[in-house]
Amino acid sequence: MSNVRVLFKSNYSMIGKLRVFNSIIREKVPFEPLNPPYVGMYVCGPTVYSDVHLGNVRTFLSFDVINRYLRFLGYKVRYVRNITDVGHLLDSGEDKISKKAKLEKKEPMEVVQRYANDFHQVMRTFNALDPDIEPSATGHLLEQIQMIETLLEQGFAYESNGSVYFDVGKYNEAHHYGILSGRKTDELLSQSRELDGQDDKRSPLDFALWKKAAPEHIMRWPTRWSDGFPGWHLECSVMSSKYLGNTFDIHGGGMDLKFPHHECEIAQCQAANGESQAKYWLHTNMLTVNGQKMSKSLDNSFLPWQLITGNHKLLDQGYSPMTIRFFMLQSHYASTLDFSNDALKAANKGYLKLINGLRILKNLTYPGDTSESLNEKQVTQIEKMCDNCYHAMNDDFNTALTIGHIFNLLKKVNSLYTGQLSFEEIGEEIFKKMKSTILTFTEDVLGLTIESNLSGENMLNLVLQEYKMAKDAKDYDKVDLLRARLKDQGIAVKDMKSGVGWAYEE
Ligand code: AMP
Ligand code: ZN
Repeated sequence: MSNVRVLFKSNYSMIGKLRVFNSIIREKVPFEPLNPPYVGMYVCGPTVYSDVHLGNVRTFLSFDVINRYLRFLGYKVRYVRNITDVGHLLDSGEDKISKKAKLEKKEPMEVVQRYANDFHQVMRTFNALDPDIEPSATGHLLEQIQMIETLLEQGFAYESNGSVYFDVGKYNEAHHYGILSGRKTDELLSQSRELDGQDDKRSPLDFALWKKAAPEHIMRWPTRWSDGFPGWHLECSVMSSKYLGNTFDIHGGGMDLKFPHHECEIAQCQAANGESQAKYWLHTNMLTVNGQKMSKSLDNSFLPWQLITGNHKLLDQGYSPMTIRFFMLQSHYASTLDFSNDALKAANKGYLKLINGLRILKNLTYPGDTSESLNEKQVTQIEKMCDNCYHAMNDDFNTALTIGHIFNLLKKVNSLYTGQLSFEEIGEEIFKKMKSTILTFTEDVLGLTIESNLSGENMLNLVLQEYKMAKDAKDYDKVDLLRARLKDQGIAVKDMKSGVGWAYEE
């Protein structure tokens, strides 16, 4: 699966040592996998009831780089990222997927398939590697029911009116509910508000493992408790332990998932398996718009196709997926990142500069007949710059610093190109080291590649997919708009009986 080239003989302690910020102890610590060279990493995936927005994309791209770097260091990574296709409820108690299915008069699984396909297309467009396993909640109902039985047997859960709840009070007798988010149960109790269906619970802090389905609820499965569906938090506990073991190396997700989702995952695993779920917890920070979290519910989200075509009131042009990827990697994954037209414009300039540098580098070869007369100062400087790329990535995957070091190296490349620096001065070995370091870190680790225009296959498919959906929904304004944007790029959309095709305009 992995398309990461390994130019160096990788060895995970080659230069410096990887340190990661472990959210559960709130400290940066050396990364020591439980069973090297294997690394198990679980990342909470999307709930596939609508298009992913760029905030979601930021989180998944951050983990893409983490996955890439771990592989580059020589670890044998098993990367599991789930698809949530049941159990994620709205405040009203309705399942997000059921609601969409009813609205669109579709089978819930049709909704799931469509948005999962869309998600995959988006991630490929942004050059993310596929996970090794992508399990879905509905594909693991038996395992979820089994975990509920275990929790009931061990006294950490109780049945009430056909639903089953996790007993937070009982768990707290021996453990600490709130260990990750730092919340205290008495504070949580005072903040908790009565929501639908809470009458069945012994305490407002208890959370659902199994919910009895109301008659109108379409996603339901029979169990001895009721016809119902699993609670959202359960799937990740079940699927992570199934594929990575009771305790595995890295659990990741956005910071907004720390509470309650990850807190509940931790409690379920500890109670059912008697072991802590993950050694390291990594949390990505939010993509914001004017300082506010990008989110569908706040109506400030940007969808990938809007960004590519520039079709959004806050944008005055379209931006390519690699520009966005560059923009996102220019900040550390644990810092917030504010999204704006100006910030993207600046990123676009930066990306083009990077690409120009890469183009020059790719055409630069060491002249065969050069006699070396090494300039120690230059050699040492370049070696240090190469090492700095490792140090930056080893410092909790600091992509922002890494990009800075790559630019420093590209300055040297430019000097070679213009003749300010000579090949004789740096010698063949350092030239090769510099070239492979730049290419490896840029393309393999950061996943930033030289991109063609809109006719790049993935980008085009993403926009054509949006065009097809707009046509199906008879949204002719959007159809016209997308047609016009593609025309600007020299691409003519062809409506055919068998679907949508395209050709370069004559
Ligand atoms: P969801 O489909 O809502 O469960 O979200 C999928 C992933 O995207 C989760 O890991 C969220 O933490 C993450 N996410 C949601 N909104 C943002 C945002 N504005 N910035 C970064 N990550 C986000
Ligand atoms: Zn999860």
